[in-house]
Amino acid sequence: MTKDELRSTARQLGIDLVGFTTVERVDRRLPAGLRFSNISQDLPVFLALAKHIPTGIMGAADSDPKRMACSLVHRALEEACAELAYHLESHDHMAVCLPSLAMDFKHKTELGNTPAGQASIDLRMAAVEAGLGTLGLNNMLLTPRFGPRIYLCGMLTNLEAEPDPPLQRQLCLGLQECGRCAAVCPGDAIPRRAPRGASLQSVRRLDEAACARHSQPYGPQAFSDAIQRLAEQQDERAQSSQIQGSATSQLWYHMTVLRQGAFTGCSRCLQVCPVGEDWDKLSESPHRRQDLPDSAKPYMERGLVRIDNFSGDRGAA
Ligand code: SF4
Ligand code: SF4
Repeated sequence: MTKDELRSTARQLGIDLVGFTTVERVDRRLPAGLRFSNISQDLPVFLALAKHIPTGIMGAADSDPKRMACSLVHRALEEACAELAYHLESHDHMAVCLPSLAMDFKHKTELGNTPAGQASIDLRMAAVEAGLGTLGLNNMLLTPRFGPRIYLCGMLTNLEAEPDPPLQRQLCLGLQECGRCAAVCPGDAIPRRAPRGASLQSVRRLDEAACARHSQPYGPQAFSDAIQRLAEQQDERAQSSQIQGSATSQLWYHMTVLRQGAFTGCSRCLQVCPVGEDWDKLSESPHRRQDLPDSAKPYMERGLVRIDNFSGDRGAA
């Protein structure tokens, strides 16, 4: 099977973007514990697979039904990835799917799948190496066609395929020229200050814990926090009331039934990013026009580039 044949099959399965690289190249970017060679020594090729979030969803008001719609996109990508692995197997190759919402419980610095449930940091870095895009101000993956409005899966395989080259230009406009993602972030998790002229690489950062509180209100961290509060509750009646409260039902529902939706609670940074061919259409949405006032622009103060936070949850810095 050729790369083009595999791309064509992936497209038929609903996968929008496919990038090829090698496990060896990706592993050079990753800390020892996250390297894909830990999974298999026999599958040297890495595929980065992405499905875009429909513009209708991205243009809708920020609400619970939107999170559920995003969960369906995640699920569709995971199922397409599994189908693609079976397809490879039917052509005498081997393949392992790496789900978009795989969690890394060993390395607590990565709370996993932030920002916005796009994918774990190892999959995002692998996608950069496979030429799908580049990292934005908050370490989300930006792609030329869909900006950051994609979810990612990965695959390891022994299909012989030449690596695709990484993109040569940065897609992110940076804090000095844009900063829109930082201005709307309800967790204030994205840098809003930087020395003038600082490189994107030196400024890029995400406060994963702050992001997770908003993007995963019923995710793994919220779940373990709830268990801890229960364990620490001394009063039996209060404990019983906590167990029977709606928060417990919500956590159970999201972690089991609507599991992908547990990771996509906030996607404001995806919605406001002007990178991507889909941006012109998305920016016509009345909801997106209300995201930021016209005054939301970076400005200089005491030698620093700054942008205020307009999320409504935080005041100006
Ligand atoms: S805007 Fe939302 S998803 Fe993006 S970094 Fe902030 S809290 Fe996370
Ligand atoms: S919103 Fe602007 S600063 Fe943020 S990732 Fe997109 S281009 Fe970069």
